[in-house]
Amino acid sequence: MKNNRGITLILVILYVLLTIIILGVLTILSTNFRKNLNNMNSQTVQDIEFDKLNVQLIKETKDETNKIKTAETTESKLVFKNGNTYEFILEDNAVYLNNSIKIADNIENCTFEVEETKSTNRKVEKETVQYTDKSGKIAVIPKGYAVSGKENEQLIDNGLVIYYHLQDTKQRLIVKVTINGAERISEYALSNNGEIDWNNDEEYLEAKKTYNRFKWISMDNKTYTNIENTDDIYICKNKTTSIGECKVSVVDGKVTCTTHSNCTSMLGRWEKNNETDT
Ligand SMILES: [Zn+2]
Repeated sequence: MKNNRGITLILVILYVLLTIIILGVLTILSTNFRKNLNNMNSQTVQDIEFDKLNVQLIKETKDETNKIKTAETTESKLVFKNGNTYEFILEDNAVYLNNSIKIADNIENCTFEVEETKSTNRKVEKETVQYTDKSGKIAVIPKGYAVSGKENEQLIDNGLVIYYHLQDTKQRLIVKVTINGAERISEYALSNNGEIDWNNDEEYLEAKKTYNRFKWISMDNKTYTNIENTDDIYICKNKTTSIGECKVSVVDGKVTCTTHSNCTSMLGRWEKNNETDT
């Protein structure tokens, strides 16, 4: 009997110990489970808020007609050519579209950065070429120049205009978003090919300010006695059939191209035209 009682006591103690251990394990498990659930929640919030902004920016950057207006864009404000503006408001921890629509919430920080790379415009002539306008009139475009993309600058009678070393500007958008302490960086290459939109007044004015422009003045194959402006580019009549850049000077009282067998008959000249208000 004495022995049995001892065994029973040991069993009771073991039972109690086992219960304590099981309870302990259960507590650890449930704490971990709850912690994981919280982590999952914060991860989900990050994903949802990030995705909302991401979807919008993909839509904006994939639109080939859309560009970023760099002059108006800041670290916290992103302005697109189509008029859409995205702004991070720190006090609200939110990103808004056009000041009114909340795109993403719970944002601790959000910055916009635009990278631009320049490349030669495809319309820049690699060699001197003869240009015939819509009405059949002829001009000669020197190497390194591009005819304006603006329709009223393409007709000789209206004043044909060329631009020196026109360039395209490809844009890349880098967005850094911090949600629940975690930063995410996403990059968007704009589908726009970076060419100047000549029908957009702002871009046209910018091109006029940025590049040297020259306007074609027809000289009707006549002989001239005076070089009006040394900045002008003269094109002699022989230029259309011969290679080499025209080099003119007044020889024996006549404007003479020494590159092309001392030709004195001038087809036309490119007059430097850099005014920005027309
Ligand atoms: Zn010449």
